[in-house]
Amino acid sequence: MFVNHLECSLTGEYYPSGQIHNLSRAGKPLLVRYDLQAVRERLTKQLLQERAPGMWKWRELLPLPDGAEPVSLGEVETPLLPLPRLAAEAEAGNLLVKDEGRLPTGSFKARGLAMAISMARQFGTSHVALPTNGNAGAALAAYAAAAGIGATVICPAETPAINVTETAAYGAEVYVADGQIDECGRLIGEGAAAGRWFDCSTLKEPYRIEGKKVMGLELAEQLGWRLPDAIFYPTGGGTGLIGMWKAFAELEAVGLIGPERPRMFAVQAEGCAPIVRAWKNGDEFAERWEGAATVATGIRVPKAVGDFLILRAVRESGGAAIAVPEEAIARGVEDAARLDGVLLCPEGGAVLAGWRMALERGLVGRDEQIVLFNCAAGNKYPLPDRAKRIRLGEVNGAEL
Ligand SMILES: *Cc1c(COP(=O)(O)O)cnc(C)c1O
Repeated sequence: MFVNHLECSLTGEYYPSGQIHNLSRAGKPLLVRYDLQAVRERLTKQLLQERAPGMWKWRELLPLPDGAEPVSLGEVETPLLPLPRLAAEAEAGNLLVKDEGRLPTGSFKARGLAMAISMARQFGTSHVALPTNGNAGAALAAYAAAAGIGATVICPAETPAINVTETAAYGAEVYVADGQIDECGRLIGEGAAAGRWFDCSTLKEPYRIEGKKVMGLELAEQLGWRLPDAIFYPTGGGTGLIGMWKAFAELEAVGLIGPERPRMFAVQAEGCAPIVRAWKNGDEFAERWEGAATVATGIRVPKAVGDFLILRAVRESGGAAIAVPEEAIARGVEDAARLDGVLLCPEGGAVLAGWRMALERGLVGRDEQIVLFNCAAGNKYPLPDRAKRIRLGEVNGAEL
């Protein structure tokens, strides 16, 4: 294992590895730091190519101790699919979607929770918990079941029903509450303080981000060890965006890529856009968004503990934070399905809408290589019912 230590993402304060952690003393996320010089001497493109695909091939850049088996449900390498007709419609060339909906439990939350639960098992944790808008709860429950440990989740009332029932099917205790995800998170924090469970909330433990960062590692290898011109990411807690930004720095430090970086676009819904507001105001931290509402529940996060890290990555990269209206989200989902046969989740629809808006505003070029992130399977969400009803006795098939 190549982990050196952990450090506070705000103050840089040192924390030892090998023991269980939540937030730093400053109340900010902890980040895992590796001996990247040692990784550099070991990890080659050739070695990576020879390994079976999937997140565990990146073991040198992951925190799992030597000899420890990961808790795994088959974390595939997700495909990078072209969207040629959508691109052509916008007179653009090179539009790709990384389809994270292929992962266990149908979302990329599996990456983070495979890592977090693998570590929790190492530390002998017997019960884990988090607040969720749906996908994190399902992934937590599935990996906890696979690890043989207990799980509790609390979700807002608007959480998609399929997520609530799926999570309970894995044997987790599920509560549906009358509030937003950060308010549910308060109960999880109180339970953790009372010793009921270990708090696995987004960025409040240091390992989910390490699992999600694999998106960035995988993307670099899939594109032949270069990165796209721009990445559009559906931003809730921002773990994936911060994680990929960290992954790119690590890849450069171990000599697998150069200093070039994509411009990072954080996409949010107009009904919940705290990061976009802070980005526009030039703020370092984002204030809580009151009355959050959007169909894209995965990005309905009024207050993100890693807000300053998201804003930093977007600014350093020369990208932008973009808010899209609900109609554009629905249109994005419909267009990708109809034109290119790819069923996006609503958050993926938001990202597509964000790219269209950026193209219109000249923030991205028509011939640039763009990667959109679709972070869950589209068929986990309700879709408009467009089927026509017929009575078999009254129609002839030739008339249809
Ligand atoms: C959780 C989630 C997001 C937001 O991910 P973060 O990395 O926490 O910002 C986006 N889309 C879907 C489908 C999600 O489940």
